[in-house]
Amino acid sequence: MEKILISACLMGDIVRYDGRQKKMDHVGVEKWETQGRLVRFCPEVAGGLKTPRPPAEIVNGDGQDVLAQRAKLWTSAGEDVTPQFVRGAAMALDLIKTHAIKIAILKTKSPSCGSSLIYDGTFENRLIAGMGVTTAVLRKNGVLVFSEYEIKAVTALINLGP
Ligand code: SF4
Repeated sequence: MEKILISACLMGDIVRYDGRQKKMDHVGVEKWETQGRLVRFCPEVAGGLKTPRPPAEIVNGDGQDVLAQRAKLWTSAGEDVTPQFVRGAAMALDLIKTHAIKIAILKTKSPSCGSSLIYDGTFENRLIAGMGVTTAVLRKNGVLVFSEYEIKAVTALINLGP
């Protein structure tokens, strides 16, 4: 059975920087959970960050730039948390290899999980086009990454599979 990696906060786990979750309400996702398809993961917590924690943004680019060492992750308190974000992304990669995962549903706008939009590094609530660090690592390794607003596309892929 095709497994799907999913952001843990979308499944209701209390892992977000603000000590909250963002549980999805979707019958398709509930069905996949019942089937045992979903592998939930939070790269920031896995990488060593606590909950709650200060918000972090990518300064000078997106997740691809972080991997190329052109950009870093800074918290609003001025701490460089790039190593924790990169470690979490590497752990996500281990997980997709272990479970032969080719599809991920990751939380939009996150500096780890974002797939098309992220905050611009100014902490002024401005979005720019770009992806988070974990998304960049997964895409580099052939995983199809979708946001929580693209469940229809994921459903179509799952229905095509074995
Ligand atoms: S890193 Fe991803 S899984 Fe963890 S709280 Fe942020 S969006 Fe959710």
